[in-house]
Amino acid sequence: MDTTARIVIIGAGHAGGTAAALLRQYGFAGAITLVGDEPIAPYQRPPLSKAWLKGEAKADDLMLKDPGFYPEHTIDLRLAARVSRIDRETKTVVLEGGEALAYDWIILATGARARPLPVPGADLTGVLSLRTAADAEHLKAAIGPGRRLAIIGGGYIGLEAAASARALGAEAVVIEREPRVLARVACEALSDFFQIYHRARGVTFELNAAVAAIEGEGGHVTGVRLADGRLIACDAALVGVGAIPNAELARDAGLECVDGVVVDLEARTGDPAIFAIGDVTHRPLPLYDRMFRLESVPNALEQAKQAAAAITGRPGPSPEVPWFWSDQYDLKLQIAGLPFDADEIVVRGEPASAKFAVFHLKAGRLLAVEAVNAPPEFMAGKQLIGSRRPVARDRLADTSISMKEVAA
Ligand code: FAD
Ligand code: NAP
Repeated sequence: MDTTARIVIIGAGHAGGTAAALLRQYGFAGAITLVGDEPIAPYQRPPLSKAWLKGEAKADDLMLKDPGFYPEHTIDLRLAARVSRIDRETKTVVLEGGEALAYDWIILATGARARPLPVPGADLTGVLSLRTAADAEHLKAAIGPGRRLAIIGGGYIGLEAAASARALGAEAVVIEREPRVLARVACEALSDFFQIYHRARGVTFELNAAVAAIEGEGGHVTGVRLADGRLIACDAALVGVGAIPNAELARDAGLECVDGVVVDLEARTGDPAIFAIGDVTHRPLPLYDRMFRLESVPNALEQAKQAAAAITGRPGPSPEVPWFWSDQYDLKLQIAGLPFDADEIVVRGEPASAKFAVFHLKAGRLLAVEAVNAPPEFMAGKQLIGSRRPVARDRLADTSISMKEVAA
């Protein structure tokens, strides 16, 4: 293997950190520079709204690798360093401050950032977002017994933070502009279930509610003003209204971007020397015959494998069924697949028992499964989605037939 080849990985998050480790595992012997603008080594974000926020995991538990891993594997980890430009003509990556790093390949792994809420008062202190470990520190400091947290956005961030806030003794009110929570990522049956479960644990909801402004006193938030005029009083407000891909470097370098950087199944952009992986990409989903931007750890890992394999001349991984998870209270939600254009929904089990699954089918084939405390339904569902085999709806709905048999 060529020891003079140089790879610059831009973004030291879940995807970038994994790609660096895989390149060494796959035998890449050249120089790897991993540049991240956060002050800490690559870490896992999922616990920031769950175990870590509740005090059930330590900061060290979040780290992707031990600090010694990077020097031991001669990975030049540059922290608190921001890339300002990619120059494709001179094949250099330019850091803020002017340093230029020459590359043979770039892996762009810049992820996504929290979408800001464009309303007056969004800059008051106590108005928080949750993307980084630093954001999570601020959120943790703001919630505790007797505190009231207003959560704008009833997506994954909103619901996971609400569950953690309740566990810490804080009040939580979720403000969502759609008529139901988890509207972007889950079906109606699941939204209803999660709303009921949260309500029973003291979370209140304002649905169909537009936020007009955030109000404060002495520069600190005191409430969220809704478009209908009501004020939701709070001690802190968490904005969880989605994520925007950090695609500006790619766009400015002339690479194609459509809600993220467009890549192929090797995670390669239109420039053969530049790969992109993780939340920042708009990627092919072969099982669904379309392009899409996924925001999940399994996707970051899959594309890190694709890029590292392509660079080291290995066969790429077989395409995976996309999957997602969320933990709230004692609920484990596992989702496999994506329900694009589903024409039939089958519920297996009783939502009231907090152990059930919702299957989404199209023309008799399984597109997606949403499983609550139901790992066999998730596992077998994932297998059925990948195989594209037709499946009988009656058998899916019949809990007396095991999922092993259904998938056989
Ligand atoms: P990121 O992890 O965002 O990393 C990108 C890094 O690049 C960041 O550190 C960023 O600051 C840096 N960067 C950006 N621009 C530059 C630049 N110009 N120069 C240098 N560095 C730059 N997914 C799940 O599958 N399950 C979960 O339960 C789950 N829970 C989550 C909980 C929270 C609170 C959050 C925020 C996310 C959660 N996710 C979850 C999503 C998951 O964390 C992301 O899908 C994953 O982190 C994507 O990895 P990435 O490397 O593409 O992006
Ligand atoms: P999200 O899942 O997109 O949810 C945002 C929610 O906020 C949507 O329901 C959205 O409704 C709503 N919303 C948007 N604008 C609003 C407004 N002005 N007022 C009220 N509601 C509004 O995004 P997120 O929860 O913020 O999560 C951010 C990122 O973290 C995503 O990448 C997510 O995948 C990731 N994350 C993942 C997990 C997990 O996988 N378990 C956990 C936490 C975070 P519309 O549909 O109308 O836009």
